[in-house]
Amino acid sequence: MNIAGFTVPQPLATGVQNITILGATGTIGQNTLDVIARHPDRFRVYALTAYSRVNELFEQCCKFLPTYAVMLDADAAEALSIKLKQAGLTTQVLFGVEALEQVSSDVTVDVVMAAIVGAAGLKPAMAAAKAGKRILLANKETLVMSGSLFMQAIEQGGATLLPIDSEHNAIFQVMPQRQLSSHGGVKKILLTASGGPFRQSTASELEAVTLAQALNHPNWVMGPKITIDSATMMNKGLEVIEAHWLFNAPPESIEVIVHPQSVIHSMVEYIDGSVLAQMGNPDMRTPIAYALGYPDRLESGVSSLDMFKIARLDFEKPDSVRFPCLKLAFDALKLGGTAPTILNAANEVAVSAFIAEKIGFMDIPRIIESVLEDSSIHPVSDLQSVIDADAHARVTASERMLAYS
Ligand code: NAD
Ligand code: MG
Repeated sequence: MNIAGFTVPQPLATGVQNITILGATGTIGQNTLDVIARHPDRFRVYALTAYSRVNELFEQCCKFLPTYAVMLDADAAEALSIKLKQAGLTTQVLFGVEALEQVSSDVTVDVVMAAIVGAAGLKPAMAAAKAGKRILLANKETLVMSGSLFMQAIEQGGATLLPIDSEHNAIFQVMPQRQLSSHGGVKKILLTASGGPFRQSTASELEAVTLAQALNHPNWVMGPKITIDSATMMNKGLEVIEAHWLFNAPPESIEVIVHPQSVIHSMVEYIDGSVLAQMGNPDMRTPIAYALGYPDRLESGVSSLDMFKIARLDFEKPDSVRFPCLKLAFDALKLGGTAPTILNAANEVAVSAFIAEKIGFMDIPRIIESVLEDSSIHPVSDLQSVIDADAHARVTASERMLAYS
């Protein structure tokens, strides 16, 4: 077993840091701005980006006065530009994927928060990696789709990578930080999972799950896609793949543990029997603040953990029969090549269809399994091979969906 651990990130340079927030209007984007607003001496917002929510991005621009605001959608960008001019703001508005790449790689930018949801986050995150930025990575899909290429781009670009996903941020906090190349005595990564809203549901109850039930996560407030991923446990599957790339951990060294209270955010077991855990209230401002300030600790607005109120911590084995997505993700990781890209694309298509109430909850793993079975898996040679595998899997998933909708 060889877990090489994490490449020790460079400390943040002194002085005010220019930050770009990709996906500023999402839950991670909003939490990031909440933490940044507490530290105006450390951060200046350089760019904020969103898909199409004009009013939300406008409000954020008024408060944080970025140099750039980017919308994916051209009409939304036009509407935002008019509103900003009327308000007397000088923020420049851009649109499209190339503009997202530009504000992720501009020479003025020091830090990039990658918090776009899904495959759309890949290109701007890659641009930030190649430009050697300090990347705070929430968009786990980037690592799932193109882990080897992204880690290579980080290294070659001289970028610094800090994980935002609460589990990976927890692992990063308890990983040995000294040795870069030796295994550092790490035996295992214990990745915790809340189990989602259907932890105790029977197989037949799972077939009848409604959208409203699936969107009602017991512990975390998150965007719709990751909330559904948490309900199917695909989120944990994606996180296993994410941990594999971040910490150079073979699949056998990553164990998923269901921990319904979401107080322990993950653990690392060492060869001497020590198990180190990171705990805290389930509030994304903790990992965001840790990554923003690393190696300093920043005040985040998160309340103290009340051990007496929590009183107990429970642990269970995950059930891959009721939650097949977890096993599908482990399988894809072991298959390697473009298999995780295909898994991710099929999942995005199936989750969108479930959110549009076109398919049932358990059709999500059925569609992913069928796409994985029928797709040819190729080595990941370059970004184009990832983009092609993603596009092909989306077409196959859309075809498969017809059988369920
Ligand atoms: P969200 O749906 O709340 O926000 C998504 C953001 O991305 C929005 O700003 C939206 O405008 C933007 N966006 C969506 N599609 C886009 C596109 N095609 N092009 C450009 N921008 C687009 O999502 P979230 O919950 O904030 O999650 C963001 C990412 O962080 C996801 O990858 C998720 O897995 C990860 N993450 C989230 C949490 C959490 O607690 N919310 C925890 C860990 C990891
Ligand atoms: Mg997580």
